[in-house]
Amino acid sequence: MDLTTSTSSPTTAAPEPITGSCLCGGIQYEVTGEPMKRVMCHCENCRKFTGSSFMANSFMKESQLTIKSGESLIQSFKDTKVDSGNTLERRFCRVCGSPVYVTSSRAEGFVVVPSGTMDGEAGRKWRPEVEFWCKERREYLPVVEGTQALEMD
Ligand SMILES: [Zn+2]
Ligand SMILES: [Zn+2]
Repeated sequence: MDLTTSTSSPTTAAPEPITGSCLCGGIQYEVTGEPMKRVMCHCENCRKFTGSSFMANSFMKESQLTIKSGESLIQSFKDTKVDSGNTLERRFCRVCGSPVYVTSSRAEGFVVVPSGTMDGEAGRKWRPEVEFWCKERREYLPVVEGTQALEMD
């Protein structure tokens, strides 16, 4: 998986930064600009990490993400059971367990922010451009119209 190439994401730069937080509110973050890619991931690791049927991921540059408060609450889990052979660092709030962001050993300088923790309009309007690991899609979930399907093998 190459997270570093950005395709045709429209350059409608969001004027307001997107804000987000974990469930307990201890961690607050801000995201500026458009993500490079919005990805709905059906892989088992993302499902386990979120406890949900998929993970709704915004791929962006590390510089687009600012942790405004609660940095000390962020706990990291090294996810080495990744099929592509790289290590993911999955960061979450150690108080409430919310996923905060993920980095990959193969994509230095980039982060994945789960859109479920984003607030307001930006969170509501989030929609995926790509679906990963479609083979592992939970059976009840339909294909999201207009997305590109990518397998990871
Ligand atoms: Zn929290
Ligand atoms: Zn995944």
